[in-house]
Amino acid sequence: MKTKENKRRIHKKNRAVSEQMIMLEDVSKSYSTGAPALSGVNLQIKKGEFVFIVGDSGSGKSTLIKLLLRELTPTSGQIYVNGYDVGRLKRRKVPKFRRNIGVVFQDFRLLKDWNVYENVAFAQRIIQVPTREIRKNVPSILSTVGLAGKYKAKPRQLSGGEQQRVALARALVNQPPILLADEPTGNLDPKNSWDIMKLLEEINTTGTTVLVVTHNREIVNAMQKRVITMKKGVIVSDEEKGGYIDED
Ligand code: ADP
Ligand code: MG
Repeated sequence: MKTKENKRRIHKKNRAVSEQMIMLEDVSKSYSTGAPALSGVNLQIKKGEFVFIVGDSGSGKSTLIKLLLRELTPTSGQIYVNGYDVGRLKRRKVPKFRRNIGVVFQDFRLLKDWNVYENVAFAQRIIQVPTREIRKNVPSILSTVGLAGKYKAKPRQLSGGEQQRVALARALVNQPPILLADEPTGNLDPKNSWDIMKLLEEINTTGTTVLVVTHNREIVNAMQKRVITMKKGVIVSDEEKGGYIDED
């Protein structure tokens, strides 16, 4: 029976879900071997936030990203992303859900035999954007990431920084409300790392919620964003305008 109290609770919960872009409630994830990769994680990220996630290797950062992408499901707890109850999502609804999220990785993951234009256009073809739209959208996003002149180049003809810009263009061309970046500057020199981070900041100013996993202490300290620190599967600090917390 739905009591008045119960209805109020459900309403309150729905409202909380709609204000947050990402919400984890007591989320744990264990793989078949080893200690839990995440233990009782609670996290709320509002629409439009820019958040760094830092922590030692093995602390659970990539597991968190994979849970948000629904590449993994939690062992226990609830995960909400842009209003979707991600843990309960039916398999056939996953592709549509993923359109909410652009993602970039340390190793770029470009298709090496395709040129820059094709790599980015591919993301639009998958969701069946008409060709005449693709012909407008791809040059536009390539110019946002500073690669307007390179559309015919193959990945091997580009620097690491340029390849990551292509990956970023591909992640953003469908205009997802969320961008996840798992160590996006891990293979880049300091100058290119800064350029990529500045680009992520710029993308965030247009309203995209941005979550960046990084080890780049200097950039995290300089950018003065919210910083979530993980250790052994637990969030050990969460600071507005935070910095990189030194070990010990
Ligand atoms: P991070 O990204 O912070 O380096 P991960 O989320 O990749 O951390 O890993 C967290 C923990 O889970 C580590 O102890 C790691 O060894 C373990 N782990 C990650 N992926 C798997 C897997 N597929 N199978 C078993 N254990 C894993
Ligand atoms: Mg990782």
